[in-house]
Amino acid sequence: MSGASTTLPPSLSERLLSAIETLSTAQTPEEVLDVILSSALGALNAIAGAVLLVDSRGTGLEVKRVQGHEEKAQTLWQDGPLDGRVPAGDALMRRQPLFFERRGALNQAYPELEERTGGVAAVATAVLPMFLDDRPLGALILDFREPHEFTLQEVRFLRTLTAQGAVALGRARLQQDLEARVAARTAELEEQRAALDAFVVYKEAVGHESDVRALAGQAVRTVRANLPHVSAAYYEREGNLWKAQAWSEDMAPEVVAEITAGVDVRTPNYAETVRSGTPLFKDGWDGAAQGLSRTVSHGATGFLPTVYGGETRGLFAVETRHAHSWTEREQSLIRAVVRGLHLTLERTEQTRRLAIQNAELEARTQALEGFAHLTRDLTDQSDPRAFVKRAQEVVLSLLPSGYALYYGRDGGRWRNWVQTGDVGHSGLQAFIDAGPLVGETPTVDIPWTTGQPFFQDTYAQGSDTPAEMVQHVNAAAALPVSRRGEVMGVFIAVLFEKRAWSRTDRVVLETVVGSLGLALERAESVALLERRNQELARSNAELEQFAYVASHDLQAPIRAMTSFAGLLERRYSDRLDGRGQAYLQHIVDGGEHMKRLVDDLLTFSRVHTQQRPLLPTEVDAVFDAVVRRLEAEVDGARVTRSRLPVVLADAQQLDQLLQNLISNGLKYRREGVTPEVHVRAERDGELWRFAVRDNGIGIEPQYFERIFVIFQRLHGREEYEGTGIGLAVCKKIVERHGGQIWMESTPGEGTTCYFTLQPDGNFQQ
Ligand code: ADP
Repeated sequence: MSGASTTLPPSLSERLLSAIETLSTAQTPEEVLDVILSSALGALNAIAGAVLLVDSRGTGLEVKRVQGHEEKAQTLWQDGPLDGRVPAGDALMRRQPLFFERRGALNQAYPELEERTGGVAAVATAVLPMFLDDRPLGALILDFREPHEFTLQEVRFLRTLTAQGAVALGRARLQQDLEARVAARTAELEEQRAALDAFVVYKEAVGHESDVRALAGQAVRTVRANLPHVSAAYYEREGNLWKAQAWSEDMAPEVVAEITAGVDVRTPNYAETVRSGTPLFKDGWDGAAQGLSRTVSHGATGFLPTVYGGETRGLFAVETRHAHSWTEREQSLIRAVVRGLHLTLERTEQTRRLAIQNAELEARTQALEGFAHLTRDLTDQSDPRAFVKRAQEVVLSLLPSGYALYYGRDGGRWRNWVQTGDVGHSGLQAFIDAGPLVGETPTVDIPWTTGQPFFQDTYAQGSDTPAEMVQHVNAAAALPVSRRGEVMGVFIAVLFEKRAWSRTDRVVLETVVGSLGLALERAESVALLERRNQELARSNAELEQFAYVASHDLQAPIRAMTSFAGLLERRYSDRLDGRGQAYLQHIVDGGEHMKRLVDDLLTFSRVHTQQRPLLPTEVDAVFDAVVRRLEAEVDGARVTRSRLPVVLADAQQLDQLLQNLISNGLKYRREGVTPEVHVRAERDGELWRFAVRDNGIGIEPQYFERIFVIFQRLHGREEYEGTGIGLAVCKKIVERHGGQIWMESTPGEGTTCYFTLQPDGNFQQ
């Protein structure tokens, strides 16, 4: 080492500044290394120099830049492992520069170096390690022709230069890296775009096409349009073969013949693709190994599966005629087209399934509509045959020509209860009418015993009847008709044509026949109800007739009895003693009560027997007439009303109704309270609701219903005179008018009787 001065000579300082400036503009790692080398060589007057950099794995050193040596000259500075046996590695490990100032110094430090490299050491050498972020980056090496004493200024210069150079190199590398990444990403995007374009072109080309061959053909053409060197074919599975559905036009006829005939599913590449369910791109192909006879030599191949519901349904195959390695771009383009094909096929499949579902739904709707007709039209009828007939008509209207039967069991024979349509053979008709035997007529026996429908796409001629009778019959459907879970009959539709009974057909038949069962069940209930109603009506009518006759016939004897009792009282009471007079009084009272009873009973029975039509009736006027008539009872009491409407009524019965209710309100008065009865009316939906309110004794709620029953009274005659018929008459009248009647009451405060009546249609409030 030498006697160094302490100030940096301007020249060296200037060189450093300009070097740093140049470094900042260097774009690539190579430019950076060049700046480092040339600056160092020039500043120190070295004869040659090199930069070695640590390789990407961090285990070796590579010569990156050389200056001053002949191109490819054999020097000491060569690629090699990163270790302490070479000067650059040594300097990096020691993390300090190494200076060899005189001849032999380098060889002394690294004795095997010349021998190992075949190079010759320079007279003097400087080795400067470079670090970036504390990690070894490489080394700058300078060779000198003369012995060289490295001044402190020179050492500082080199240290600063290599430190700045390392930073610049790091930046340039980062930049380069970034650019590479951008380029890669751009290429990737470009590929995606190309793939997308292909996909779009494909989707546009197929439009609403739904034929598999057409769709696959378009996919093949799209691949060819983008990759003219690639042949393509689309296969679908049929049994144990993959059969080509579409192929590119460049394929030789014998190849087409082979792939359309079908490729064994066990063929290795095909089988492997199916197993993995993912695309299989291979850069090589050996036709013989694949077990195919064709001898055409291939380059690369690719197999792409189209998978639905976990099952590989199709295979898209691509190949090149000449040796070829698939690029990313090619692969993603082919993938895109196959994805397009797959999506379209899937959509087509879904559309197809949807169409089937729609048809089923439509059929079911039709059947249900048929059923709606069935029940709507027949509600008043309870003849089950009418229902069966209608169901047969509905079914036959939805099917091609044929006839329908309905068998019920009749001992050991099937009895044809209802038939629609001509069976087309007189012998057959006679056979049917005679009643086929139970147990020998499978078409009827099977649904009857299993409870399940029995569909014959091809009617088993001769199974039920002698075969010659049913030569014209080709399909049959037989469905059990159940009522409350029990098979009651067998519904049969027979067609003259063959028919593969579709799901839709079955849905229609099952719906109609199921509905028929329900309709029959309902008709049965309706019939039962109707019978009960009729019975009830008859017994009611008898009772009324009896009440009428009895009360009517009783009137004369009662009248005779009471008038003679009156006569006796007037003429002979003075001849009777006190007891006799009391007895006579009992007879008179009893006679009067009996007369009232008979009158009331007569009124009751007349509610139905003496009906007048319902006409618009002013309730106001009826009320006023009633009150006038009741004047004697009203005496001292207050009977009032608010404005009352016009209703549809039998005026006499309405009069009776109001009279009964008002007089009850007056009769069941409270001790010491002036009786008040008020009648008002309010709108209640479509109806008028009337309220007759009194301030009398009231009624316990448990009697609210019972008091409307004839002869039901809550009081003895000693307390309140009455027959217990009044409210029963009221109820009958209101119900005859289509209304309802009920009580509300607070015992000790009063009672309100409500009833509803129909408004007069023309009445506007
Ligand atoms: P009656 O001829 O006994 O009045 P109704 O059929 O008119 O027969 O009434 C039946 C029973 O209902 C009456 O006996 C009475 O106990 C009770 N009742 C009817 N209306 C009223 C009312 N406004 N207040 C209290 N109780 C009533």
